[in-house]
Amino acid sequence: MTDRQLMFFNPVFKEKIWGGNKLHDLFGYNTDKDNIGECWAISAQPGSESTCTTKGFEGKTVSELWNESPELFGHYDSDRFPLLVKFIDAKEDLSIQVHPSDEYARVHENGSLGKQECWYVCDAPEGEHVILGHNAKTREEFNTLVDTKRYDQLLCLKNIKKADFVKIEPGTVHAIMAGTMVLEIQQNSDITYRFYDYDRLENGKPRTLHLEQAKEVINVPETNGFIYSTTDEAGIHELYSCKYFTVGKINVKDTFSFDTNDAFFCTVTCVEGSGTADGTPISAGSNFIVPKGYGTVTFEGNMTLIVSRPE
Ligand code: ZN
Repeated sequence: MTDRQLMFFNPVFKEKIWGGNKLHDLFGYNTDKDNIGECWAISAQPGSESTCTTKGFEGKTVSELWNESPELFGHYDSDRFPLLVKFIDAKEDLSIQVHPSDEYARVHENGSLGKQECWYVCDAPEGEHVILGHNAKTREEFNTLVDTKRYDQLLCLKNIKKADFVKIEPGTVHAIMAGTMVLEIQQNSDITYRFYDYDRLENGKPRTLHLEQAKEVINVPETNGFIYSTTDEAGIHELYSCKYFTVGKINVKDTFSFDTNDAFFCTVTCVEGSGTADGTPISAGSNFIVPKGYGTVTFEGNMTLIVSRPE
């Protein structure tokens, strides 16, 4: 028997001009904010930290737990909590963006981590697309298409549907479009270069672009993004593994035992349905960390969970 507990967190809500109301309507999040574009579910980002609600740790931020109780995280070797788990709900098309690698961010962004990210698609309208990657074969072609604003020729549109999984490497341009809601698992970084914003105005002005940085970090030619559909068969299915993290999907149909013994720790997010985790009720929108030493979690109910663990 372990004295460890599942560690639940209060999310941080971010109002965005492009934000919708699905996070409120589908998940029943209790917030009086409108247009919640993002819900940072498990976050150790300075100024946007989720706080623990579990007995004995109430009110502690992820970073406080990380620094004060490293044993909960298997003494994982990092000066900061390595992951960021968030929901994004787009009521409008998001600006097209790109993230830097660790190497670029370390030099140009004050020692920050880069941003490898991936999405699980929680909801998307019929026939929906995402922007993922571009068509230019050379830098010259890329620059010409950007300088002459031929974005429709440059950018790749790919089909997307509910329960798809999308991998986005640093240097891959990407954007979700109106009506899509995703769960994003990423490195603990908030560095985004806005590449193109459809020439939209906010309060009469275009939003700031970071075109020079974007041009420096964008992969030419593009090779790295991919999308695939995921299974709804019962059990655990690995979706993606990289040097930073491994992401899996658990389809709980009645019951499933999740063995976490070989992980430093895991994050768990319920994206659909409801049930229990070792007797504690959970439902779509619930998030928790399984600390090191907890062992096996028994889920009961009918639900879809996305789990991630650092490597
Ligand atoms: Zn991104």
